[in-house]
Amino acid sequence: MSDKQIERTMIVETTSKVGETVKLQGWVDTKRDHGKLTFIDLRDRTAKVQCVGYQKMGELTPESVIEIIGLVKARPERMVNKDIPTGTVEVDVQEYTILNKASELPIPVDSDGLEINEESRLRYRYLDLRRERMRKIVKLRSDYTRAVREALYKRNFTEVETPMLTKSTKEGSRDFIVPSRLNPGKFYALPQSPQQYKQMLMTAGVERYFQFARCIRDEDLRADRGFEHTQVDLEMSFVEQKDVMETVEAVVKEAVKAVGGKLRDEVFPVYTYEEAMAKYGADKFDMRTEQEKKDNVLAFAWVIKFPFFKKVDKTDAAEVADGKSGWTFTHNPFSMPLPEHLAWHMQGENIEQILTSQYDLVCNGFEAGGGSVRAHKAEILKATYKIMGYSDAEIEAGVGHMLEAFNVGTPPHGGIALGLDRHIMILAGETSLKEAIAFPMTASGKTAVMDGPNELDPAQLKELHIKTVV
Ligand code: ASP
Repeated sequence: MSDKQIERTMIVETTSKVGETVKLQGWVDTKRDHGKLTFIDLRDRTAKVQCVGYQKMGELTPESVIEIIGLVKARPERMVNKDIPTGTVEVDVQEYTILNKASELPIPVDSDGLEINEESRLRYRYLDLRRERMRKIVKLRSDYTRAVREALYKRNFTEVETPMLTKSTKEGSRDFIVPSRLNPGKFYALPQSPQQYKQMLMTAGVERYFQFARCIRDEDLRADRGFEHTQVDLEMSFVEQKDVMETVEAVVKEAVKAVGGKLRDEVFPVYTYEEAMAKYGADKFDMRTEQEKKDNVLAFAWVIKFPFFKKVDKTDAAEVADGKSGWTFTHNPFSMPLPEHLAWHMQGENIEQILTSQYDLVCNGFEAGGGSVRAHKAEILKATYKIMGYSDAEIEAGVGHMLEAFNVGTPPHGGIALGLDRHIMILAGETSLKEAIAFPMTASGKTAVMDGPNELDPAQLKELHIKTVV
């Protein structure tokens, strides 16, 4: 029989094919030479299975890609391996073909990988992702993303994409800049978040928007943080703070349960910023007992009633640039102050006492999301920038397009962004965000595998009207 006539069988299906000749394709997971016999474990995306072959198979190197034609046999009772899903069978190899031979591997893939240095893991990320721990995380991320998306569709949200090439947004971080070839001397900025576009979608009448959004911020690198992250970004019209919080809580609970996560609370506790600081000394905190930590229970809570403004931290370049008066926003300049402080906000009085409608979602000591009810009237947003010391002309130049949108029928609205990478890290019981991302950056800001950023050739620079001075 030519193998062309046999369809590929996924390894997990072999248990239901006893007595049949099957075609398997995958990677040589392990190999054991026993004189005349060679045993290999063959692995595909679904499972591993033991294959018994003849001496020549000794030539196979670990992690080579092969195709096997073989007979599926039931294992005798005493040989059944209860630890693996295919432990009741083995495959008698009749013929095999090497589809791609693996040379000696630069990093091992049969451990959890935590013993290997980060540079090597990221340089060879395509290998690193083969290890079981990482394969599970990649799948978990896909399953969680799907569960969140389904939970949002069920609640009548519309998925909309917003531009990656945009304008500087003044959202508290340094922008990543992209030169414009067609506009000499001008630059785009990559989005720090889709904040302004999602608000304009509310003006557009979308009412319930979401997007899995890439956000790019030129922040100082911390051990586990790169320049880009993914947010589950959403916005809703005709809502108050409690409506957004209720919807988000329901979506998160549904998605966490869909991937087998364990929740500490069915109803997430709510703390004011003041209460959180008094009780935990931080606005992100871990409520779990030692046992709950061992069981990787997820302990979500809300924090509300944050101060709207803070004094500029003079060591933070973005804050210095944003807060011209010495005051800058704590979370989001587009937020609405709490209704009881609106009058102060409009007059620019008692600035340190003005509270914002911001709500943060925390989980196991991390910030898992944050959002607010927005200022949807031009004069309120203007008042925010006045407090930060902006002139009318500067406000116009920075957010004039928002003020225009707010004058043509923008409904009251609010939203949130959830940190997807962080949710996955917590669900997977990992402690580094990098483990939740397929191709994260190195600690020094190099891209995985491809070693960016790199120098451009002079012709490219010329076309972009750029002279470098280093
Ligand atoms: N745009 C905000 C952020 O990126 C989240 C939000 O308020 O929706 O943090």
